[in-house]
Amino acid sequence: MKTRLDQHFLTDTRAVARIADILDVSGRQVLEIGPGTGLLTRALLDKGAIVTAIELDSDLVLSLKERFSIEIAGGRCEIIHGDAARISLPEREYVVANLPYSASSKITCNLLRTSFTDAVLMYQKEFADRMMAPVGSRSCGRLSVMVQTYARVKRCFNLSPGSFMPPPQVRSTVLLIQPRPPLFWIHDNAIYAEVVQLLFSGRRKMVRTIIRMAGDRIGTREAEDLIGTLPEEILSSRPEQLYLEDYATIANRIYDIRTGVPA
Ligand code: SAM
Repeated sequence: MKTRLDQHFLTDTRAVARIADILDVSGRQVLEIGPGTGLLTRALLDKGAIVTAIELDSDLVLSLKERFSIEIAGGRCEIIHGDAARISLPEREYVVANLPYSASSKITCNLLRTSFTDAVLMYQKEFADRMMAPVGSRSCGRLSVMVQTYARVKRCFNLSPGSFMPPPQVRSTVLLIQPRPPLFWIHDNAIYAEVVQLLFSGRRKMVRTIIRMAGDRIGTREAEDLIGTLPEEILSSRPEQLYLEDYATIANRIYDIRTGVPA
């Protein structure tokens, strides 16, 4: 077991069956991240999925290739040795994974750059709670805003440490993530991501103060133009009090300023 790779393997066969049952994977292309010893991979293959699995641990890759040699020869399974946080991930219709918790954030961001229709992902419970925190509430953060901008998120169920070997010190949550277009028009997704990051770097301050303090990053002129054209109710709120529409308004205003569109 390699602690640095968060190797807590599912041993609870009922939990594995519940995860594999959330989507009807029969005949579908499924991407699995961090297959480990392959218990979930086995369940997905038994349900008729065509699985592409990405595993970072080279020892596990060797044993997975041996374990699934028949399915690999039959074109129903592919094992890729790689870091799912860094590589360009293959595009598959479904994603099913018990993610390594320390790389959850990076892998989720990387995943959201690909096109899939449904992802069943297991996270540390606190991380899942943050992803699901309603935007506009005290518990929301950069992650909640970014995920809920581009996807619908639903809690499927929680799992206790006893479902894994070795048991982790935290509880786990399985989420269903379904990408959808943003509810409010966003001119430029990179500017939007920049705005959300900037605002949550000063989450206890008012938006006006954060923009003013960011003058050296975004340019003093741009910061003052922005302050001059945004509604007072946005400027006098804290980031955690904003709604998705407000983040889009700020990002689109920056886009207009940078491209020379008058307010
Ligand atoms: N899916 C298996 C299960 O449920 O029993 C294993 C889950 S375990 C929590 C996480 C797995 O992800 C481990 O097999 C680990 O080696 C692998 N892993 C860790 N970091 C990774 C990364 N950056 N890319 C791909 N796999 C990774």
